[in-house]
Amino acid sequence: MAEFTMELNDEQKEVRDWLHGFAADVIRPAAAEWDEREETPWPVIQEAAKVGIYSLDFYARQYFDATGLGIPMTMEELFWGDAGIALSIVGTGLAAVGVLANGTEEQIGTWIPQMYGDAHDVKVAAFCSSEPDAGSDVASMRTRAVYDEAKDEWVLNGTKTWATNGGIANVHVVVAVVDPELGSKGHASFIVPPNTPGLSQGQKFKKHGIRASHTAEVILDDVRVPGSCLLGGKEKLDERLARAREKAKKGGERVKNAAMATFEASRPAVGAMAVGTARAAYEVALDYARTREQFGRPVIDNQGVAFQLADMRTQIDAARLLVWRASWMAVNGRPFTAAEGSMSKLFASETAKKVTAQAIQILGGNGYTREYPVERMHRDAAIYTIFEGTSEIQRLVIARTLSGLPIR
Ligand SMILES: Cc1cc2nc3c(=O)[nH]c(=O)nc-3n(C[C@H](O)[C@H](O)[C@H](O)COP(=O)(O)OP(=O)(O)OC[C@H]3O[C@@H](n4cnc5c(N)ncnc54)[C@H](O)[C@@H]3O)c2cc1C
Repeated sequence: MAEFTMELNDEQKEVRDWLHGFAADVIRPAAAEWDEREETPWPVIQEAAKVGIYSLDFYARQYFDATGLGIPMTMEELFWGDAGIALSIVGTGLAAVGVLANGTEEQIGTWIPQMYGDAHDVKVAAFCSSEPDAGSDVASMRTRAVYDEAKDEWVLNGTKTWATNGGIANVHVVVAVVDPELGSKGHASFIVPPNTPGLSQGQKFKKHGIRASHTAEVILDDVRVPGSCLLGGKEKLDERLARAREKAKKGGERVKNAAMATFEASRPAVGAMAVGTARAAYEVALDYARTREQFGRPVIDNQGVAFQLADMRTQIDAARLLVWRASWMAVNGRPFTAAEGSMSKLFASETAKKVTAQAIQILGGNGYTREYPVERMHRDAAIYTIFEGTSEIQRLVIARTLSGLPIR
């Protein structure tokens, strides 16, 4: 187990500087254009693939970094460049982690490479859990997976929504109900391989922010996938369902929710994205406040402005510390006894929203225009308090963890 440290080692510093260079030279200059186009920035993803940033290899190295700092450092730098483009680059990771967490070695080896493609033929992947009537309330999911034993195939029917890369992905990971009696314990995840008949893209959403990232509905109409596409395999699923049924029969006993633990471990990564956006807006505001003169002096000469910047920086640093702590805990298998993963996502996402709004205020009229990037950053920041669990859901998880009670 690695000791918790706030000091990046030499190798990590080198990687951070390399990522920062890519964010500054490739991502940031392209940000305004792809935000306006509201399209997936394929050329930028391709560029990231060419240099090795968009690759299974790179993410695996960061994901398994025992210090826990690899993923937060990567997210912070890429999202510092631009949130929409960065999400297009890292969105595949959400589906890849779904396979890593639940798949067999064979499934990991078969499907994750197909999610990324290669530098000459870049692909993306999508993770499809949310539905029109099942957002925060995952247990009310309706997409059904039924086993056709004669053919050893699963048949999937339903509508997924808000899927990042949904419909344009080479590989879709779909969560579906296999036993409706068991609520969220009766869910399982499936791979839908490239070009599977019955899977189609529904509505593509026009969004407030992160507009370079593709978000769409995914329709599943009698989608047939081989038995081998059930993540973890049938035997493991049957054992898990039997345990859940047994516990449900006994009643009262609270079943440890594996999905909850996975969320706690993945939420710091979203927190780190928020830190990246917040830091970007803070830097623009600091620079502007030092150079913009009114009443014959830089506006930062006013305590009203300087104190705002002091608060912004303090909150960003505090957010990063919470993110790094939770990420270290996740990698080292520490129990989240106070929902530290949710804490880090809650604080960092609320900080990003606040800091980007303050940045607009500090830039005055310029901050409100698309001539300056803080307007875009503020629109982008609003997503962090919504996806991967809203701020209200984070508070619910923290409160329940602290109290041990089913707070509603
Ligand atoms: C751009 C974008 C990308 C996304 N990408 C993906 C993806 O790749 N894959 C995927 O599966 N999903 C994705 N999502 C879905 C996202 O995770 C959901 O939007 C989120 O979980 C919230 O669900 P909802 O939108 O249905 O809101 P709802 O659950 O309907 O919530 C509405 C409001 O009620 C509040 N609320 C709900 N329940 C409670 C409660 N018990 N206590 C207090 N307040 C409550 C919420 O906090 C919120 O403010 C994405 C969403 C967006 C916008």
